[in-house]
Amino acid sequence: MIEFLRDFQNMSMYLAYNTNVDAIIYLNEKHIQTLIKEFGAENVKKRMQEYPREINEPLDFVARLIHALKTGKPQSVPLMSYEVDKWFNSRFEHGVERIGGQVGIIANLLANLDFKKVIAYSPLLGKKQAEMFVRRDNLLYPVVENGKLILKKPLEAYKEDDPVKINRIFEFRAGMRFNLGNEVIEVPYSGRFIVACRSEEFARVETSSNFKPYLPEIGEMVDGAILSGYQGIRNHYTDGKNANYYLRKAKEDIKLLKKKKDVKIHVEFASIQDRDLRKKVIFNIFPLADSVGMDEAEIAHILSVLGYRDLSDRIFTYNRIEDTILGAKILLDELNLEVLQIHTIYYLMYITHRDNPLSEGDLLKSLEVGTTLAATRALLGDIKRPEDVKVGLNIPFNEKGEYVKLRLEEALSKMRTREYKIVITPTRIVKNPVSTVGLGDTISAGAFASYLSLLMRKGAY
Ligand code: ADP
Repeated sequence: MIEFLRDFQNMSMYLAYNTNVDAIIYLNEKHIQTLIKEFGAENVKKRMQEYPREINEPLDFVARLIHALKTGKPQSVPLMSYEVDKWFNSRFEHGVERIGGQVGIIANLLANLDFKKVIAYSPLLGKKQAEMFVRRDNLLYPVVENGKLILKKPLEAYKEDDPVKINRIFEFRAGMRFNLGNEVIEVPYSGRFIVACRSEEFARVETSSNFKPYLPEIGEMVDGAILSGYQGIRNHYTDGKNANYYLRKAKEDIKLLKKKKDVKIHVEFASIQDRDLRKKVIFNIFPLADSVGMDEAEIAHILSVLGYRDLSDRIFTYNRIEDTILGAKILLDELNLEVLQIHTIYYLMYITHRDNPLSEGDLLKSLEVGTTLAATRALLGDIKRPEDVKVGLNIPFNEKGEYVKLRLEEALSKMRTREYKIVITPTRIVKNPVSTVGLGDTISAGAFASYLSLLMRKGAY
């Protein structure tokens, strides 16, 4: 681990496209009673019966919130209009604000691990967003000034008018009481109600036209790129653009990054509900990537749209390691990836073709970096400096690990795996994690960065 931390200090990484702010709001009875008074109990009840699936105006929010409070069930509802944001800001104060989005999470992680340079790009960079990045000299945002590429600290690069994507997490406690007309409601369970911002401003996953010509320069400057956020693309946009348009642009970006130097690209996949869109992202983006990371549910989703329904169902239902390996082989081959990384709660897996320059032992070390970082983050909530990783190293590999390894041996003896390298490490699991947000991203960033450092040590990259 220590050797890797040392290597990281000489490594640079480019990250695009998604950042946001996660705001936690601690709800109290007064908040709720004020909302009911403002909109009128009868109107709220009526809208609750209509059960809006998305939030287009404040009353939709109030209705779904009261519904969630009444049942005590955690829920997430998409907010479709940025206009409503102003309303939220005028009514609620944020208790805690954290950076979100894969780029946001990974940028702060790598910068705190003392990477040489972390270049984090998102098409929009409003002030509040810029403030959420850690303030370190190695974390930079690309801007073009007078026809030249300049890397600036986010706080010197933000644009005052850029909207900021805020996902609001309303925390509520069991036992809170309020009146809805003549009905008295007591919240049965503690939980959270999430308003996830899905407004169109944030669905334009692309590189700005003035920065785009400099992507070859960026590719030459860094040791790797981690791309994510494709799940934010929509099928249709109000100006007539569509997913095909944005995916064509996304492909151009990858080709440009690789133009001067064949820089390795990792794509971090996140679940996409819409099947057509999921399929498009897989077929357009994966073949251009060198490395892809995902969790077990996501590999099942992907296999399902690739036509392997039975296998997909089996992974969902039984979580058997041999099914995951079979699925991983299919993905690696059909999309011709260099390396595929899968994280699950009990183990992490790499699969590569036999000709991969790294040995099984090397690959194992790289996975261990991933789980050690995740365990550190789970325990501390955040990784603030390289030394923090010591606490992760003290967290034992989970007890199911030995069993998982046995199952792997068994699976490998039965399957045709001679053309592959497949390695698995048990995860280090923290019993009472401070937070589990972003653990998957942490695993993938750590695994990919250490994979690159091993390739470089071997002179194979
Ligand atoms: P997210 O999208 O929130 O990052 P993922 O499902 O992609 O979540 O990844 C979560 C991963 O984090 C799991 O596969 C597991 O390896 C790891 N993980 C989850 N809980 C813990 C924990 N308590 N301690 C250590 N690692 C954990």
